[in-house]
Amino acid sequence: MHLCAEFFFRVKVPPPPTLEELLQFYEQNWRSAGYESTEEEANYKAYGREILTAFWEIHSRDFRMPLAVEKLFYIDVDDIKFRGFIDRVDKLESGGLSIVDYKTNKELFTADYLEKDLQLTLYQLAAEQLWQLPVEKLTLYHMRSNTPVSCPSRGQMQLNDARQLVLDVADKINQQIFPATENDYCPCDFPEHCPYYRHQYSQNAPEATDTEVPPIAIGGDEIERYASLQVQIKALQEELAVLRQEIIDYCEAEDMKRVYGTESEITYQMVDITGYNEEEVRAFLEPEGLWERVTGLDQSRLKQLLTDEAVAQDIKNRIQSLRQIISTQKRLLVKKRQNEDKET
Ligand code: SF4
Repeated sequence: MHLCAEFFFRVKVPPPPTLEELLQFYEQNWRSAGYESTEEEANYKAYGREILTAFWEIHSRDFRMPLAVEKLFYIDVDDIKFRGFIDRVDKLESGGLSIVDYKTNKELFTADYLEKDLQLTLYQLAAEQLWQLPVEKLTLYHMRSNTPVSCPSRGQMQLNDARQLVLDVADKINQQIFPATENDYCPCDFPEHCPYYRHQYSQNAPEATDTEVPPIAIGGDEIERYASLQVQIKALQEELAVLRQEIIDYCEAEDMKRVYGTESEITYQMVDITGYNEEEVRAFLEPEGLWERVTGLDQSRLKQLLTDEAVAQDIKNRIQSLRQIISTQKRLLVKKRQNEDKET
């Protein structure tokens, strides 16, 4: 679609290509790879033809030569060389510039999306540096519906933020900090370097490693075994939960504390979980100037306070006395009939 829009507008003098020429160009540049069936490919191809026909009808009617098409730019952002391509730049009657970026997104863009779109902001930076003319209009062109969605140019603050972002990203790249972030367009053109895809792309040719002791190579067998163990564990956990409940119900109904198998015995216990009531602890610690140290009753910070030598013993005792049962858990203690304990 991008190539066709470029072909349509990249004429040396008007008129633009005829519809037949545009559709012929489309046919010649069609790529068949990536479709699941010939039927799917045919459907997409017909859909593309429809879009292009509407595109041609709209733009051939009031065709105007653009200032630039698929314009390659190199700009300087505080000594950082920044490169990109702008789909189309038009010169407006006012003398300012209009930037158009073609998009094949499914959904039409919202106003919020348009106003925050970083690509358009960077294009404005580039165009104003390149032509020394003000950008007055920014457009995302929704190819599927042939709808241009436009907004006025960015203000100075947004341009400065984008400039700063370029500098920050360049700085991180210089420091080799560029963590992969998965997104809708993955895998990109560099899957063999990406931590999310490198394994998939290197399975036939594992990379040499510089480490003295190479890690154990993980291949398809290990992955499948792990996945299958996960499934088994889940099934076992479900079975364990059902059995656990049956044993507890039995112990409670028969008023028994221990049940016996041929090799194991299981003791049924009710275990009290103790902790602190926030209101009570706060009422005590606040006047002592210690409440902030446990920030909103963080139980681990409270424990630290109790082991802090600088805190007076009577305060510690008072805190300890506030300890209370906050819940009760049922536990089954599994034991081999001779030794070794194991909790569930
Ligand atoms: S494949 Fe990896 S490197 Fe490429 S865009 Fe996705 S996360 Fe980033």
